[in-house]
Order: sequence, then C-alpha cells, then structure tokens
Amino acid sequence: MALRKIALVGVGKIAIDQHIPSLAKSDDWELAAAVSRHHQVEGVPNYKSMDEMLGAHPEIEVVSLCMPPVPRFEYARAAIAAGRHVMLEKPPGATLSEVYALEALARDAGVTLYATWHSRKAAQVATAKAWLMGKAIERFNVTWKEDVRKWHPNQDWVFEPGGMGIFDPGINALSIVTEILPDPIHLTGAILKFPANRDTPIAADLDFYHPHGANVSAQMNWDHSGADIWDIEAVCKEGVLKLEKGGGVLLIDGTEQPGAIGQLDGEYPQLYADMAALVSSGASEVDLRPMLHVSDALTLGKRQQVSAFEW
Ligand code: NAP
Repeated sequence: MALRKIALVGVGKIAIDQHIPSLAKSDDWELAAAVSRHHQVEGVPNYKSMDEMLGAHPEIEVVSLCMPPVPRFEYARAAIAAGRHVMLEKPPGATLSEVYALEALARDAGVTLYATWHSRKAAQVATAKAWLMGKAIERFNVTWKEDVRKWHPNQDWVFEPGGMGIFDPGINALSIVTEILPDPIHLTGAILKFPANRDTPIAADLDFYHPHGANVSAQMNWDHSGADIWDIEAVCKEGVLKLEKGGGVLLIDGTEQPGAIGQLDGEYPQLYADMAALVSSGASEVDLRPMLHVSDALTLGKRQQVSAFEW
C-alpha cells in the first residue's frame, strides 16, 4: 500500500529524538517535507514557512506539529483550514479553550485531530490498566522527579507563561493516571513551587478526590539530581501495582511482569500507527483530562516562592 505523506513542523529536540526516527521506520508514513526556521531535515524538501510548504505540497495530507504548546494553535488552525489532518505533541495546547476550538474546527473541516499522549503508549500502561480494573484501590501515588537541565537544556520556553514548568513532564504522568485509573478523579489541592525569577512552577504536590475514598496524590519535581524517578504506585486490597520508568516496567507485588505482546516497539511508533488508523477511519482523538488536572492545579494551587532558577 502507498505510504501516506506527512510533514513535520517545528524541528527541535523531540522531532529529532523521536518523530524523524519513528517515521523513518513506519509502514504507514513517508516524511515528505519539514518546516523549520533553523534546522534542515536531510532527504526531504525543507521550508521556513508552513504556509509555503502547504501551498507547494497538496499531496501532504497530514501535518505533525512538534513545536512547544504556545505557538501551536496558530499552526494547527492554519493546517486544518488548509484541509490537512493534524497531530499535536503533548500538551495539545497552551490553554484548554484553544484545543476545544481546534476540535470544533477539525470537526467542521472533516479532518482528523489527534492530541497525542506519548506516555500512554509506554510498554506496560495497557497491562496496568487491565490489572487495576475492578481492584479496591486504597492509595494511589505518583512520583515524577527529573532534572530539567538534563531533559530541556536551555529551553527557556518551559519557564515562560504557557510552558507549564514541571507540568511539561508531569502531564505525562497525568496522561497515564487518567488512562489507567478506572474512576474519574479531580484535584482538591496543590502546592506549586515557583522559582523567584520564573513564571511557571518547578515542583508541585497534588492531592485528588477519589470517588471510592482512595488516597490519591502526586509529587513532581524538576530540580531533582540523581536518577529520574517516573513511578506510579497503586496499593490495593488485592495487591500492589507499581509502574516504573514512565510506564515501561510493571511490578505486581514486587514481581516484574512480562512485556505486552503485539505492541509496536516504542511510544512514538505507536502514536504514528494510531494516527494512521484515525485518518483511515475518519476519526479524531482529543482527550483533555490530563490537561484539565494541570489547569485545575494552576487554578487551585497555593504558590510558594523558591530560589531563582538558572540553567
Ligand atoms: P524545542 O526543541 O525547544 O522546540 C521544538 C521546535 O519548535 C524548535 O526547534 C522550533 O523549531 C519550534 N519552535 C519553538 N518556538 C517556536 C515558536 N515560537 N514558533 C514556531 N516554532 C517554534 O522543544 P521540544 O523539546 O522539541 O518540545 C516540543 C514539544 O514536544 C513540547 O510540547 C514538549 O512537551 C514535547 N515533548 C518534548 C520532549 C523532550 O524530551 N524534549 C519529549 C516528549 C514531548 P524551528 O526553530 O526549527 O522552527
């Protein structure tokens, strides 16, 4: 079958680390153009403006947007207006309202909009979800700690309004939580730590209401030295589930579980396979629950000032 043609827009860290290699080995997609103000992708036509690329390539049916959330809306709106299907990096936008607006625009234009959550595609997330179904959860805790200097060196946008600070990685945890928890939760309190010289929090502690009384909380920190900790633990009457390494490893009562069968190798290859299926079936997928919790934390959170942050 002919490969579908796709363009990448915003060629930075995640496009280079994940999107380009995933597309290169995809059975569904051919990377047919790139749009970047500063970079070139080898072997494809490169453009500095998305409008120019769209005008030159009517055969490109999908645009994958890899820039940070704040500038993304305008690109998504323009791509949808040009009749193209759109794939959004996480978080899908700078605000909930703008993503609702995109959803409506895509629906009216009859194109696919896919708000991706790469962490949901981690190897053991589906197995964890299946195990938790019907369990009596007593305590559910997220620990998400990493060093922003390691993962986002000099990316000042993460500390600018709309960059979300610690919630840029923390929303990955919330995307898994909202996928695997059988019952809906909502935020009841948060403490947000803002560096004195920055506009977004560098750490957050979150508490949630759970309809069956489980104690649900999260501790997130971006000023963490040492190994990354991307863990989710559910203590249930029936046993203890622990997801480690961002959903890649699953332990039940301390015993590591075998890997899931039939899954593509890697989060981004799976996202692109999903996008191919959505386009083929004329569907969209826009689940904003992870972002709702971030928005609630920024609404309800108590602000604490901490030392200035420098790279
Ligand atoms: P990045 O490297 O700082 O930026 C990506 C690219 O976006 C830049 O190279 C730039 O492309 C374009 N861009 C930046 N600001 C722009 C603006 N104002 N207008 C238009 N284009 C702009 O960021 P990233 O780390 O790749 O992250 C991008 C998105 O991917 C974020 O939403 C992030 O949460 C998500 N993500 C990142 C990672 C990671 O490990 N970094 C992992 C998973 C998901 P040009 O200058 O070349 O045009």
